[in-house]
Amino acid sequence: MTAPSRTELASTWPPTAAVAKAAGHKQMSPMKAIREKCLDCCCNQPSEIRACETVKCPLWPFRSGTHPYTSARMKNPLQETDFTESEAA
Ligand code: SF4
Repeated sequence: MTAPSRTELASTWPPTAAVAKAAGHKQMSPMKAIREKCLDCCCNQPSEIRACETVKCPLWPFRSGTHPYTSARMKNPLQETDFTESEAA
């Protein structure tokens, strides 16, 4: 039995756990997947992920591996005060 081609794997939409496994993926959370992508983007240098200034990248808010929009975090007034220019300095 031959391995399925990329075209065959991609034809399953949306991807299932079985097709992801056949493509060589390990089961992981979306947050872990984002972190893995950022490591790939930064040549496996975690310090470069932290320093990433590509703020328009859709993954940027999630690059630490921590979800910034959980209800608990959104309710934390110390963390969720408006970010101002003075804080950026
Ligand atoms: S957030 Fe930065 S490190 Fe992560 S994928 Fe985007 S550009 Fe790359």
